[in-house]
Amino acid sequence: MTTLYPLARRLSFILCLTASLAFAALAQSGKQEMDADFAKSVKEWTTKPEFISPLVDHLPKVAGVPSPKDVLGYHVGQPQKLTRTADLYRYYRALEKATPRVKVINIGQTDEGRECLVVFVANEDTIRNLETYRGYLAQLADPRNLTEAQAQDIIAKSKPIYHLSAGLHSGETGPPEMLMELAYRLAVEDSPLINAIRENVIVSITPAVEPDGRDRYVDWYYRHKMDETGEQDSMGGPPYWGKYIFHDNNRDINYSQVTMRNLLLWYLQWHPPIMHDLHESVPFLYTFSGQAPQQPTLDPILYGELPWFANFEMAQMIKYGMPGVWTHAFVDMWSPGYLAFMSSNHNGMIRMYETFGNGGANTMKRRVAPPEGAGQTSREWYRPLPPYREVEWSMRNNTNYMQTGVLSALQLTSQFPKIIVENFYKKSRNSIEDGKNNAPFGFVIPPQADMTRVEFLVNTLRLQGIEVGRATAEVKLKEGTFPAGSFIVKRDQPYGRLAKILLEKQNFPDQNLRTYDDTGWTMGLMTQTEVKEIADKSVLDVVVEKVDRLSVKGEVKGSATVAYAVLNHGSNNLITLRFKLKGAKVQANEATFKAGDTEVPVGSLIVPANNDSRAAIEQLGLKAVALAAMPTVVMHEVDLPRLAVFTTWGNTQEVGWVRHALDQFGVQYDLIYKERIIQASKGQGNLREAYDMILVPNQGRSGKGLVFDREPTRKPLAYTKSAEFPSHGTYGESEDITGGMGLAGVAEFEKFINAGGLLVTLGQASFFPAEFGLTRSIDAGRTSPQFYAPGPIVEAEILKTDHPLFYGYTGKTIPVRYANGPLLNVPERDRNRQVLMRFPGTEKNVLSGLARGIAETRNRPAIVDVPVGKGRVILFATNPCYRWQNHGEFGMLFNSILHYKAINR
Ligand SMILES: [Zn+2]
Repeated sequence: MTTLYPLARRLSFILCLTASLAFAALAQSGKQEMDADFAKSVKEWTTKPEFISPLVDHLPKVAGVPSPKDVLGYHVGQPQKLTRTADLYRYYRALEKATPRVKVINIGQTDEGRECLVVFVANEDTIRNLETYRGYLAQLADPRNLTEAQAQDIIAKSKPIYHLSAGLHSGETGPPEMLMELAYRLAVEDSPLINAIRENVIVSITPAVEPDGRDRYVDWYYRHKMDETGEQDSMGGPPYWGKYIFHDNNRDINYSQVTMRNLLLWYLQWHPPIMHDLHESVPFLYTFSGQAPQQPTLDPILYGELPWFANFEMAQMIKYGMPGVWTHAFVDMWSPGYLAFMSSNHNGMIRMYETFGNGGANTMKRRVAPPEGAGQTSREWYRPLPPYREVEWSMRNNTNYMQTGVLSALQLTSQFPKIIVENFYKKSRNSIEDGKNNAPFGFVIPPQADMTRVEFLVNTLRLQGIEVGRATAEVKLKEGTFPAGSFIVKRDQPYGRLAKILLEKQNFPDQNLRTYDDTGWTMGLMTQTEVKEIADKSVLDVVVEKVDRLSVKGEVKGSATVAYAVLNHGSNNLITLRFKLKGAKVQANEATFKAGDTEVPVGSLIVPANNDSRAAIEQLGLKAVALAAMPTVVMHEVDLPRLAVFTTWGNTQEVGWVRHALDQFGVQYDLIYKERIIQASKGQGNLREAYDMILVPNQGRSGKGLVFDREPTRKPLAYTKSAEFPSHGTYGESEDITGGMGLAGVAEFEKFINAGGLLVTLGQASFFPAEFGLTRSIDAGRTSPQFYAPGPIVEAEILKTDHPLFYGYTGKTIPVRYANGPLLNVPERDRNRQVLMRFPGTEKNVLSGLARGIAETRNRPAIVDVPVGKGRVILFATNPCYRWQNHGEFGMLFNSILHYKAINR
C-alpha cells in the first residue's frame, strides 16, 4: 500500500505527529486528571497510530462520575466486549445519577418488551431547562404564529438539539458502545472543545434504536463469533434482529414498526434540527453529504448544510492524520424512507455515517479493496486521503473514528448554534411559503367505497405530523367537485413539503443515476386509494375541521335477520372479519346481486346476522347490508385454510414483512422452517395432512437459494433458547440454521401439491417452483444487466377478472410495486387459462419511480395459477405484501387465503 500512496502516507504520518501536539490544547485543558489505564489500553487496541485523534486518546477521571469501565468493567472498544441493552441503560442511568448534565427519558417499548430510551447531555443549566428549550424548537418548527422579530428573539434564546442514534442495524455493533464514552466525555471533560459543545448544544442519544435486535446480536456474537479471525471464517449473523425485519427498519417509510414509531413520536415532540444515524459498512468513515439524485422538494438550504458538515468533518480528521474519510459516492438523497430522514422530512437535517466495522468486537485483518481494482480505496476528489487496501482493524479503531467524526460535527454545531437553529426555522417557514406559492397547493382524498384504506393513508400522514382536514361542505375546484367530508391536505403547513413528497408521483430525474433504495412510493398508488393532486390555489381556502386520528366506523344497513352481506370494496379488513368470526359459516357470492337498492359486489362475505358480526363489522369500518333472504347467485364457502408460512433461516426479512401484515390483520398461521419440512421427509408429520396452504414469501433470490439457503459453516449455528442466550430461539428454533431443506424438502413440497395442497409463492420465491419443476411447464427468467427498476410502481393488467384473487378489485388495470421478480413464461397453449395478470410493460405503464428497460417485462405474466396433481401453485412475480406499503395489493394475497378452496377446486 505504501507503493500506491507514498506521499499520502508520509503526509499522514507527519500530520499525525503534529496533530497530537497542536490539538491537544483544544481537546484537553491540562487541569483535569486523566485516566491512565484508559490511555494505555486504547493505545494498545488501536492498530496504527494514525487511527486515533487527540480528541479521543484520553479520558478524564472525575471523582463520583462513573466512566463506562466503572460500571461495565471494561473500556469502550476493548476487544471481544459487546454490551447488551440492559447494560447500556445501566450505564446511562448511573451517569444520570452522578451528574446533573445528563438526563434519561423513556420513549416507549419494543415488541419484546424492552425499553426505548433517549439520553440528553448538556450543561446542568440546560438540562434543568430542557422543557424550555423544547418549547423554543417547537415554536420554530411551526412558525405560523410568529412574526419575524419574534422568531429571531426565540432563535437568540434557543439551542440546537443534535440527535445521535445507534444500533438501528444490530449487526453494526460499534455505535452503541461508542456513544457511552461520548456521553461520559461530553458530561465531564473540561476542555475548550467539549466546554463549547456542552454550553451551546443539547446532545441527545438513542443508545440502541432496535434493542431487541441488539440483544439478539450480542448473544449471537458471544455464542458463535468470538473465534472469528477474518472475513474468510465469518459465521454471519443471527436469523433475526427485531421481531420482523433486518435492515428494512431503515426503509420503514410508513413507520409500521413500534421502535421506529417510538422515535418518530419523540422526534415530533423535541424537533432536533439535526438527526445523525450511526451505521457501519464501508472503510474507514463515510460521511453522508446528500448526493444526487436529490429529493428536489426538500429545502435547498439542506443541500448546502449537508456538504458543509461532511467537508468539515473530513478536513478535521485529515488534519488529525486519519486516512480514509470520504463524503460522496455512496448514499444518495432520493428516498425519504430512511429512519433519520424523519429529520429532513420535517425541515431538519439528516446526517449519517458508515464506519468500518467487523460485525463483532474481534480485531481482524480486513481486505478493503477487491483483488482487482481499487474499490473504495481509490483517491478521488471526495476522498483525498483514501483508506488502505488491507488493514488490521479493531473495535477501538471504529470507536476512535466515529467519535472523532461526531465530536467534529458537534464542534461545528457549537460554533454555529444560532445558524443551525435559524436554518431550521427558515426551512420550516419556507415549507409553508412554498405551499402558498407553488403548485401543487394541496391534495384531496374524496370519500370512496373502501374507507379503511383511506383511514390507513390519513393516519399514516397524521402520524408524521402532517395536518389533514375534513371539508365541512362541498368543495369546487378546477380539478372537480368533491363532496363534504373529503379529506384535504393543504400544502401551506410546516410539513407541506413532506405531504407532497409522499403523495405525488415520483419523477426520477435521470435514468443513468443509481439510487440506494426505492424510486417510487406514491401513497395513493400503493394503497390504491383515490388521491387528487390539486393545482388550484383556492384549495388553501377550503374550510375544514382538523382530523386528529381517523377512525372509520362501519355499518349494517337494514334490520333483516337472515344474514349480512359484507360488501367487498377491497378492504383488507375483510380477512380480519373472517378470522374474528372463526367458528361461523361464511360464504362468498360468485356473482353480484341486489339487496334492496344496494348492489352487492362479487366476493362479498355473507355472514350470520347476529350481534358478534354486527360489532365486528362496525369496528372494522366495513359496510354491510342485512339480507331478508339468502342470495340465489352461486356462492362458495369461505373456510379458513390451515395456513403455513415457510421461511428460510437465511432470509427472514421479507417473510417478516408478511408476518407483520398477517399479524396486523389477525390472520392465523404457522411459521415453518426447514426443520418442519425435513421432519415430513422422515415420515413424521405429512405436510398435506397438516396444512391446506403453504405461503412462501419473497426470499432466496433463486430457487437454489431457497432450497439450500445458508452455507454450512465450520461448526453448527444453533439458534436455540438457553439461559446464557435468552434472546435466541425466538420465532423459531434450530440446532443448526444452515444447509436449507435440500432436495428431500423439495420432494415434500411436491407431495404437498400433488395431494391437493395450495402453494403460493411471492416475488423471488417464484423461482422455486419454476426452477425445481414443481410447475413443470412454467419457466422463470431474469432481466438483462441493462434493466434497472429499483422499486417503481407499474401498471399491471388483470386478465381473469372473475378469478377469486381479484375480488374487491374493480379496475382492469391496477398499480403494483415492481418487485424484480422472475420473468415468468407460460406455454402459449396454457396462457388463456393460467395467466391471471400481466405487465403491459411500456413506458406509459410506469406510474411512479424509475424502470429502465421496462420493455423486458412486456406482456410477461405478473400472476400465474397452475393446477398440479390434485393441487395448485400460484406464482406472483410481484410482491403483494411489501414493507407495509402496498396495501392496495394485500387483497390479492388475502384472497388467496380466504378463497383457497374455491381457487383450488
Ligand atoms: Zn446500517
